[in-house]
Amino acid sequence: MTRADAGIVTVDPASGDELDFYPYTTPQGIDRVLDVAAASPWERSGLEERVTSIERLGDLLTERREPLATLITLEMGKPITQARAEIDKCVAACRYYSERLPEILRPETFDLDGDTAIVRVMPLGVVFALLPWNYPWWQVIRAMLPAIAAGNTVVLKHAESVTGNAMAIEKAFLDAFGPGVLQTVVVDPATASDIIGDGRVAAVTFTGSDRVGALVAARAGAALKKCVLELGGSDPFIVLADADVPAAAAAAVRSRFLNNGQSCIAAKRILVHRDVRDAFVAALVPYVRELSVGNPADETVDVGPLARHDLRDVLREQRAQALAAGARVIAQAEAPESSRGAWFSPTVVEVDGRDSVLLSEETFGPLGVLTTGAHDDELIAIANSSRYGLSSSLWSADDDHAASVSTRIHTGAVFINTISATDPRLPTGGVKASGHGRELGKWGVYELANLQAVRIHTT
Ligand code: NAD
Repeated sequence: MTRADAGIVTVDPASGDELDFYPYTTPQGIDRVLDVAAASPWERSGLEERVTSIERLGDLLTERREPLATLITLEMGKPITQARAEIDKCVAACRYYSERLPEILRPETFDLDGDTAIVRVMPLGVVFALLPWNYPWWQVIRAMLPAIAAGNTVVLKHAESVTGNAMAIEKAFLDAFGPGVLQTVVVDPATASDIIGDGRVAAVTFTGSDRVGALVAARAGAALKKCVLELGGSDPFIVLADADVPAAAAAAVRSRFLNNGQSCIAAKRILVHRDVRDAFVAALVPYVRELSVGNPADETVDVGPLARHDLRDVLREQRAQALAAGARVIAQAEAPESSRGAWFSPTVVEVDGRDSVLLSEETFGPLGVLTTGAHDDELIAIANSSRYGLSSSLWSADDDHAASVSTRIHTGAVFINTISATDPRLPTGGVKASGHGRELGKWGVYELANLQAVRIHTT
């Protein structure tokens, strides 16, 4: 048996060096974890205990900010300043839920033809969470903090490449909530799939590719379990003719290259009104060329390596296909692509037709595509032609114009004159192949709750 059969080897994507080895959780270990999660007293915890525990988690993350950010950067190559910002965002979510939980969980009581009606927020039980590596902490917090706030317990199967982060997450939740509220299992995909069907699991939440999302949903569906899916995206970034073009160009570059281009809601397809195309490209090119690419531990770096070598290979293949089909590079910053790390040079290309692989497939890395449309209808048609529908960003100096176009975009969110970004106060989620269900805000709590209706008849 090789080491890879016995567990997970993590790798520093900047250097290609091995970092650590984590043995798989044994079948008995998995059984124990599920037993503990199912028997946890957390579902009966009162509001005060929940609020205090969430506050404690925020405090712990604040205290551990630097080592946690360093671990994120080491395992997935995110620039250190962005890794710190990720931890800060998790802390902000803790603050939001500790403040708003009394209101979110308060039972709604009303009169029903003389009877008393109550709708109360009850837990579902054990939630099995299969989560990705791109925001190793934020993905867990945004999907699981609302579920835990509702009284559920969580068994986490994190992405293999960030197993060290998964361990740190388990420790932080243990310290903040006590045993059994969030536990991690280190398992391969086949074992993960079996856990979905286990009778002790009440619901499943998955964030990742639509390919695996379909497998997870099928498994959950066969067992009639609630399943929340946060899948891929190919978000349109739409620049209308009356946009503030320099501001839009700066924002497009920020959105496309943040997190080394590996954000589900990045500006993946930049759709520009033909009348402002030249001005937009002239503004965009220097921003791309000036990106600082290099060691992600360096505070001045904007873009590091991709998180894994196989992700880099997929992106290189997409770039090669697009260029072979006539795409033109309009801006590039150099990365050390020939080194042992998972490097990819940040690039924006322009395409004329509608059949480029970069328009039809998701690109998960620092590769943006720009194309033009002659009028609003054409830009909207391109935006909606994707099978994905996660988020979108829309640019216009005229509020009425922007509002009217925004109602025609088929995505889970529209951001006007700003880039797509998750926020603890806003629901997040997609339509079409981007999945279903919502995370964050009160909606994230209700998504994985039993909204129990009680009618008390008055005689
Ligand atoms: P992936 O779907 O392969 O992996 C996501 C998670 O699923 C990981 O924990 C992985 O270990 C697990 N997994 C993989 N195969 C499995 C199986 N057969 N059964 C059960 N679990 C399995 O995704 P990836 O290739 O690592 O990441 C890239 C893709 O993920 C992109 O398409 C991107 O859009 C998507 N993604 C989406 C979001 C989002 O928030 N919507 C975030 C990150 C990544």
